[in-house]
Amino acid sequence: MSELSVVMYHYVREIKNSSFPDIKGLELKDFREQIKYLKENYNFITTEELIESVYNNYKLPPKSVLLTFDDGYVDHYTNVFPILKEFGIQGSFYIPAKTVKEHKVLDVNKIHFILASVPDKSKIVADIKDLLIDIKERHDINDFEYYYKKLAIESRYDTAEVIFIKRLLQVELEEEIRMEIVDFLFKKYLKVSEPNFAKQLYLNEDQIKEMISEGMHIGCHGYNHYWWNRLKPNELEKEIDLSLDFLESLGVDLSNWTAAYPYGSHNEDVEIFLEKKKCKLAFTTKVGIENASLSNRLQLKRLDTNDITKEQLLNKRLL
Ligand SMILES: [Zn+2]
Repeated sequence: MSELSVVMYHYVREIKNSSFPDIKGLELKDFREQIKYLKENYNFITTEELIESVYNNYKLPPKSVLLTFDDGYVDHYTNVFPILKEFGIQGSFYIPAKTVKEHKVLDVNKIHFILASVPDKSKIVADIKDLLIDIKERHDINDFEYYYKKLAIESRYDTAEVIFIKRLLQVELEEEIRMEIVDFLFKKYLKVSEPNFAKQLYLNEDQIKEMISEGMHIGCHGYNHYWWNRLKPNELEKEIDLSLDFLESLGVDLSNWTAAYPYGSHNEDVEIFLEKKKCKLAFTTKVGIENASLSNRLQLKRLDTNDITKEQLLNKRLL
């Protein structure tokens, strides 16, 4: 068995000189550097080769590396795809269907851009405090202080205020309430129409088809980008079926379909369902280097590109 590093990317763009310098992603020039380094020191493989290695004992090269890109950003066409073509590398792209089919902005992306539009995050926290007072009159929820105390805990990457906003709006509150707050803040701070914003943020069908024709792998990332481990069985089935319909409409070979769990959301029930649907491989957001096999093929670990620092690159301690 060979060691495999799977790298996970989200935004890959010029960030510092853009209108959203606070967006957390990889600078385009750093992506090129990373690819150059990997090309010199590692062996790029394709998802189809990985499937062959898991199911048919195909031998992967030593120090193999696979690149995955989540969430279907247009960055992946305008910035990533030309570089992959230049270096002769396959990327695997996990695209939530709703963004392409309906021009809706995922709530997780709305939150990113709300945060990136407001330098003083205490303003957003103050808005949320006001909104919760109003919502509490209509819904059975706790008060602001309860949530702030529970959730505002700073992390390696984010301040306590940012963590509070993300956790409250991505996880803690019920879907309907989360969406109400997110939509209010998105309208207030972005001041753009959602469909137009979506068209600028995400891939469209023509771009995806061109990427497929050039050998890129396109996989399942759900339809709505829900947390799969929180869905009822019939909801999960609908979410996956709609996503597979979308992939089929693009010309993806469904006898070799793969998935990336939105937010890494998986559990035994989700895995059993994917197995039933004959999913070949599925990627988590757990961090690690993998020896892919039949037993862990639906729990594959990845490395976040932002965890691969410049210093590691320079010291050649990457991966
Ligand atoms: Zn995602």
